[in-house]
Amino acid sequence: MQLLIGKNWTDGSEGRTYENRNPATGGSLGPVAEATVADVDAAVRAARAAFDGGKWATMPPARRAKILYKMAQLISERANELALLEVRDNGKALSTAKGELGAIVECFEFYAGAATKNYGETIPGPISTYLTYTLREPLGVVGAIVPWNFPLLLASWKVAPALAAGCTIVLKPAPSTPLSAIELGKIALEAGLPEGVLNVLTGSGRELGQAIVEHPGIDKIAFTGSTATGKLVARTASETLKRVTLELGGKSPSLIFDDADIDAAVAGALYGIYYNAGQTCEARSRILVQSSIYDRFLNAFVEKAKTLRVGDPEDPQTQVGAITLDEQFAKVRSYCDVARDEGAKELFGGAPASAGAGFEGGMFWSPTAYEARPEHRIAREEVFGPVAAVVPFADEREAIAHANDSAYGLSASVWTRDVGRAGRVTRALRSGTVAINTPYAVFPGVPFGGYKQSGYGRELGFETMRLYSETKSVLTYTGEKPINPFGV
Ligand code: NAD
Repeated sequence: MQLLIGKNWTDGSEGRTYENRNPATGGSLGPVAEATVADVDAAVRAARAAFDGGKWATMPPARRAKILYKMAQLISERANELALLEVRDNGKALSTAKGELGAIVECFEFYAGAATKNYGETIPGPISTYLTYTLREPLGVVGAIVPWNFPLLLASWKVAPALAAGCTIVLKPAPSTPLSAIELGKIALEAGLPEGVLNVLTGSGRELGQAIVEHPGIDKIAFTGSTATGKLVARTASETLKRVTLELGGKSPSLIFDDADIDAAVAGALYGIYYNAGQTCEARSRILVQSSIYDRFLNAFVEKAKTLRVGDPEDPQTQVGAITLDEQFAKVRSYCDVARDEGAKELFGGAPASAGAGFEGGMFWSPTAYEARPEHRIAREEVFGPVAAVVPFADEREAIAHANDSAYGLSASVWTRDVGRAGRVTRALRSGTVAINTPYAVFPGVPFGGYKQSGYGRELGFETMRLYSETKSVLTYTGEKPINPFGV
């Protein structure tokens, strides 16, 4: 698996490789090129040349749109193959990956449409002899850094709007899940993207990521990852005053009120935490339940959780796949230890899961839940695994207080049949997304991003186009009498 720099697939400046593994089996997925800092420089120069001298930024947006549509079409045609690639690279369940592929196609289609609508404004100024308007121009070269939990989906959330706005890109997938980004590079070239517009670098996350964020040839960093790395990225990027968007961690709540449809809330709360084995930034890892329905909810939640199918990610019936990284598996284990040590009550799980023959080398964790208090670490810190903290609340006011008592503010689900309550609670929540009676919160066109330490900037929305654009103000004097303030 090679790097894409300009129009060339290359082994990189030192020809180094690393071994990529399937987390469900431990088996090898083959060697992947390991880029160096010199390769970062070459990729940035290729992206810079494509931006400064190339045709992409100045190409009529309608032509850019056609290439984005073509990319959507090629991804759609190869959706099954790409989903399987993602399953093998990440360990996620095939059913999860297939859903992502649909969303990836929609994302490219949405931004293909948006490419021709990045409108400026005319500004009625105080002086009528001026015609004043703004232009939205492509921002420049974007360093796109994505994590391993949704490799192609999160790459698409950056690549599609950046391309639509006329930017060029250096894309860096996480070291453990590089395969779909490489395929995206192939698809882009096949769709007719000019050389250098999309470059793909695989290899060490810290070294390459740091080099991308430091590089003076890059104008913007679009980063998705942990809050700790996001803070480092923001600090480093400030040296060159790069524009930065940060999509970071979360500890998102499901708020379940006593007037909710309990069956729907149980199903939604289960999906909200165990989808993608909990390795989801917006995982609803805090389940806040009104005391008056607490026992009823919990009994149903525990009963249904035990029916979840954990195991072979390639089996279409599997609902919970593997944990992607060794260190993530160790982190999940250690949080279960912390929960028990702090006195949280284990409801189920709390141990590795057996996925059967052929998966002895894989990393599977049983869906897990603890009854916790709001001050327990399991109810405050991001585990990034299939582990829920269930916390009771007395009334609406306490529910809001618990939900907002977090350093994060990415997503929340509110389960209620009372439309007034839904509106009140939505306004009170300090959260980038509030989903009413649904665990879904992500659709193309709907801005996605965080309050507080879940980051800044938004992805997926139309407003995202602005985050890949500069605003140029144009003032045209249209009066007959020349302007001569000095009276010279
Ligand atoms: P991470 O921060 O360790 O890595 C994210 C990316 O940054 C990877 O590509 C990594 O190689 C790269 N990186 C590592 N060190 C870097 C550095 N010094 N400079 C620049 N880049 C560097 O995160 P992760 O463990 O891969 O992902 C899990 C985290 O991502 C979780 O906290 C999760 O909540 C968050 N996440 C957020 C969203 C969102 O949209 N808000 C989506 C998915 C994941």
